[in-house]
Amino acid sequence: MKAVSVFPATKTLGVIEYEAPRITQPDQVMLRMLDVGICGTDREICSFEYGTPPAGYDYLVIGHEALAQVEEVGSAVGRLKPGDLVVPTVRRPCHHPGCLACRSDHQDFCYTGDFTERGIKEAHGYMTEFVVDHERYMQPVPSNLKEVAVLVEPLTIAEKAMAQVFWLMQHRPPWIDPEVASTERGYGLNALVLGVGPVGLLGAMVLASAGFKTYVYSRELPPNPRIDLVSSIGARYISTQTTNIEQLREQIGNIDLVYEAVGHSHFALEVLRVLGINGIFVLTGVPGLQAFIEADPARMMRDMVLKNQMLFGTVNAGPESFASAIRDLDILIQRWPVAVRTLIAGRYAPEHAFELILGRPAGIKSVISFGEARN
Ligand code: BGC
Repeated sequence: MKAVSVFPATKTLGVIEYEAPRITQPDQVMLRMLDVGICGTDREICSFEYGTPPAGYDYLVIGHEALAQVEEVGSAVGRLKPGDLVVPTVRRPCHHPGCLACRSDHQDFCYTGDFTERGIKEAHGYMTEFVVDHERYMQPVPSNLKEVAVLVEPLTIAEKAMAQVFWLMQHRPPWIDPEVASTERGYGLNALVLGVGPVGLLGAMVLASAGFKTYVYSRELPPNPRIDLVSSIGARYISTQTTNIEQLREQIGNIDLVYEAVGHSHFALEVLRVLGINGIFVLTGVPGLQAFIEADPARMMRDMVLKNQMLFGTVNAGPESFASAIRDLDILIQRWPVAVRTLIAGRYAPEHAFELILGRPAGIKSVISFGEARN
């Protein structure tokens, strides 16, 4: 079967033929892959800056944003049956008995760094025809989400970040109306998203639907379909080319939350300067090497202390974030059907994977398709 692979040692890329996996343990399921999304991490892996093959292999099958259909189940599988649609999670726990995070299904908080990630770190990914894995790493998806469920994995980034923000906020602003429904947790607060890639746009949707007055700040100028998408969800787009950071603060007022989804350290630090009183700044982008810059850490520290600010980074996602992403995707598509569908630029054959990964993005999210779901 076909598998889209990188060979880091020889710096080569190829769609290889490799033997289809078989179920070897009773709690395993065999998946027929349907859709696999492409993201910035795939681009880094295919540029040989990131990614590690599994032990004993000189190649890594890439792909970690996936939708699949269960093809076959092992004898101890209880929750899933052939034909079910699932999104497989990405990170697998480390094996250290003392890692309490991994031992309690919170491998996204792994303490040892010895976790693996399918399609990224020491485990083959999903850009192939069939995959075998344990049932417990599968999240069932209702069939009405089939068309867009490949967005679940990138949506988990916002889901996990918001869960963390809400842990922090639970005891923070008692002056915010306690009667506000938990689905409107952002009511009365301003959120600023940095970036108009899939992670930023999905983040903007989650924030807007949680009641935040949502702004998106990026380089693009109109006319641009990403800007239209921002407007269509009731958020406001501001371009870095027309509004500088100081003006941004004047236009928005207190910036209560920043959701960074660009992966550019200088830009993030600049915006951190205008984070509001009691503000929370969430970093989700993973920057490549960037030039050193002069910084003013004393000012940063003074601001953070005197303004009760918080800065945190968030990576990957655990099973709860996948489950909430599936629930929220249903809500988002009902509310903004066109905007959510527009996120998917198109579906392409595996042979086109590398040109899509390494070329200029054709649209917001390109998807490699391995076939249609069977009834
Ligand atoms: C993936 C995460 C992963 C991270 C770092 C992201 O693209 O979505 O699952 O943890 O890359 O490897």
